[in-house]
Amino acid sequence: MPEVLTMGEMLVEIMRPRSGMALSDPGDFLGPFPSGAPAIFIDTVARLGHSAGIIGGVGKDDFGACILKRLKGHGVEVRWVLEVPDRSTAVAFVTYFADGSRKFIYHIDGTPAVMADFPVEAAREAPKFFHVMGCSLMANDRFRASIFDAVSALHEKGTKISFDPNIRPELLAGRDVQELVGPVLDRCAVLLPGVSELQLLAGVEGVQESIRALFARKALQTIVLKRGGNGASAYSREESIDVPVYPVKEVDPTGAGDSFDAGFLCGLLEGRPLAGCLKVAAAAGALNAASFGPMEGNISARTVGDLMSGS
Ligand code: ATP
Ligand code: MG
Repeated sequence: MPEVLTMGEMLVEIMRPRSGMALSDPGDFLGPFPSGAPAIFIDTVARLGHSAGIIGGVGKDDFGACILKRLKGHGVEVRWVLEVPDRSTAVAFVTYFADGSRKFIYHIDGTPAVMADFPVEAAREAPKFFHVMGCSLMANDRFRASIFDAVSALHEKGTKISFDPNIRPELLAGRDVQELVGPVLDRCAVLLPGVSELQLLAGVEGVQESIRALFARKALQTIVLKRGGNGASAYSREESIDVPVYPVKEVDPTGAGDSFDAGFLCGLLEGRPLAGCLKVAAAAGALNAASFGPMEGNISARTVGDLMSGS
């Protein structure tokens, strides 16, 4: 059993090559780039030298092959990835605008990305962490129920649940957040939100107020707050720590948060103090943001170490 297991959507991303190109107009695209927040996360865990596995699905087509080739190439365990012969691999189209905002068109529901059940044999030996991305809970009721099954079976075995709420308004479609994420949040030990997601989950305004409200949950040990270009903070019940970003030339921030999550968990697996975990996370996030493509970036234990030591 890998040290870190995740379950969620795997997809390819087809990207506009430059900002300001609306998805409504004919024009150039680049891709396919392997993607899906859970896939980006687990790829980074493996690249940082930890054993990693994913439960998910792809079509038996060239886009599925693109994703599997990348993950296998980095040593991610893919034995629990369905390869569905008569369905197409999930796809997302993305474009950026000059103000840094993004727009997506997703083809995820009805694809193999959200078809896997939690394989009971995956609960025989407990991984150290099971990581959930909020976006994986949004696409399809049945897949959400399967992820809830995984969370409760593994939590009972002693696996720590980590959760990045990663809630995109396009996928929320007016639904109640607590209903969508409640069973994960109740068992979550490490929560990794952005600022707006933090307040949405806490149901109150203000960062300090939200942190206090969320720590009323007994299972919660650490909240890691991601602030994009403004850095990140970690809160335990005893201390709070801030780290700035590592300065890199930002090329494409998509996926930075997912690589950041992976870096933080790898730091915990390595027994680093909270500040060290945040630094590994920030370095992995920065290296992801410095390359075009959601899962791209020169991320390894060595490059993360170099960035952290300033060499
Ligand atoms: P997303 O909107 O993709 O879900 P997120 O909120 O999960 O993103 P971000 O806050 O955008 O994640 O990024 C996570 C972390 O990655 C940041 O806290 C920072 O440490 C690092 N990072 C992101 N963008 C940059 C950048 N341009 N330069 C350096 N580091 C960055
Ligand atoms: Mg995110």
